[in-house]
Order: sequence, then structure tokens, then C-alpha cells
Amino acid sequence: MIRISRDYVTGAHSPSDTPAARCQSGDTVWFETRNCYDDRLAADGSEFEPENAVENPATGPLYIEGAKKGDVLKVEILDITLKGIGYMRQSTVGGAFYERVSERVVREFDVSGDTLQFNDTLTFPINTMIGVIGVAPETEAISTVIPGDHGGNMDCTRIIEGSTVYLPVNVDGALLAIGDLHALMGDGECMICGLESAGEVTVRVSVVQEDALPTPCVVTAHDPCNPTRICTIQSEEDLMAAAKKSANCMLDYLLARTDLDEYDGGKLLSLKGDLIINQIVNPLLTVRMELDKSILDAYEVDIP
Ligand code: CA
Ligand code: CA
Repeated sequence: MIRISRDYVTGAHSPSDTPAARCQSGDTVWFETRNCYDDRLAADGSEFEPENAVENPATGPLYIEGAKKGDVLKVEILDITLKGIGYMRQSTVGGAFYERVSERVVREFDVSGDTLQFNDTLTFPINTMIGVIGVAPETEAISTVIPGDHGGNMDCTRIIEGSTVYLPVNVDGALLAIGDLHALMGDGECMICGLESAGEVTVRVSVVQEDALPTPCVVTAHDPCNPTRICTIQSEEDLMAAAKKSANCMLDYLLARTDLDEYDGGKLLSLKGDLIINQIVNPLLTVRMELDKSILDAYEVDIP
């Protein structure tokens, strides 16, 4: 298996980045990721050599041979493994609660098992997600703090083991980078961080052609208790704009691949499409529309 260690981190998705590794379409690749604090934060709030820190680092980039502008990069999340400890640091500048606190209090949590012991009263299942997964934009470099059409810091709780992420290919090789794992996070990420953890992600990457597929999007992991869903993810400066864009991406996809028109497509999404806030804390805000994949199956829409 191709392996990219935590030594290969970047602070931007950039078309001029030197690839950390190369692979063929269909290959399985292992990424070792640092936490969003660049693995420098300690439980007492101190940071190791903060002057050298990469903000919200992503591991990579991976060059996928044969990927060309206009293709779609399919990334199947095969496995996510955490490395022992997760951190949360209160924000005093952003998120929903910063005006109520004055200190950047840090807490450290054991994330080595299947459960998070939040305190003596509360225990939750670990549900690890990937905060940053993106490809290089066509021209400029975009910080790994920022989400966008290239993916990036989308903080989508649907990007977990077993899910499939679809990203646009903007440059030769796509240049995939992954980081910012959260052992647990609520939709919205209201206090600016998830349970930030270093770890390892194993993916299968494939180059596919599907003109109508709205990117970035996710097909959710198989879950015996819940329907499989497709999620269109969009980021804008305000939530309304992000909500409209993600809903319209889903509508465009339906119009391209079914015999629905604007009228019935809109009605369908108003009945069965769910708009959900990914995060309210990054420089652009992210909303996704979720739709049961069974609706696409009914129209025999093939997602490659
Ligand atoms: Ca994030
Ligand atoms: Ca994070």
C-alpha cells in the first residue's frame, strides 16, 4: 500500500504543491494525519514550537496518475484509526459561544477506544469524521482552513469510514490532501472545534467521468438503521447563500439525470431534501443538502 506519513503536511490546497506520493486510479492509499493543532497542543494549553505550526494541516498531496481536469475523483473512505488522544480548545474569537468565555481552556480526551467519556455523567460513541479532504484548485492556492468547490475544510459529519467523497479534478493528478480528523463533532461545529485528533486514514481513489455529478458530494456510509443518502456540499460567506447553492446543486443533478422538471424537482426537494449546516466557524460557511439515494435509484441514476 502507498503510504504518506505525517511528515508530508501542507497548509494549502495548491496546484503548485510537490506531490508527496503518486498512485494509479483504483489504488489504496494510507494517509497519516496530524490534528488541527499540528500535534503541538498540550493539555495545559501550551504549544510546542508554535512558530513552526501549520494551521489545520492536511497530509499530502497525492498525485493520481491519469486524473485530468473535468474528471471526478472518487475517494472511498475505507478505514479511519485515531491515535489515542483528542483535544478541544475553547475559542475566544469565533463560533457561537466566544463572547461568554475569556480563556482558551483546553481539554484532553481519551479517544483510544470506541467511546468518549465526556464526564462522570455522559458517555458517547466515538464517530470519527474527516474535517479536511480536498484537491488542488485550478490556479490559486486555498488555505486548508477554507472550504470551497475544491472540498477542503468542509467539516461534514457524513465523511466517515464507509462513505464515499466525490471531488472535482481541476489539475493533472488532482492532488488530494486529507487532515483534521474529529473523533466526534455535532453538525454546525458551534464551538469552533470538534474533538480534534491525529490519526490514519485509508482510502481508495478512482478517477471517474460523470459530468452531472455535483461536487463536492458524499454518498453516506452503509448503515443498517438509516437510509443511504447523497449530500451536496456548498460553502459561501453566508448560510442562506450556501443553503441555496447546495439545494440548487441537488436540483441541477435531478434535472440532468431524471425526467423531473424545475417544478416537480423543486417540490420533491422541498418534501424530501434536508438542508443541514456543516459548520458555522470557517471563513466560508458550509451547508449540505441530503437526499435519500433510493430516490435516485428509483430513476435508475447510476452514481459511478
Ligand atoms: Ca475543520
Ligand atoms: Ca477541526
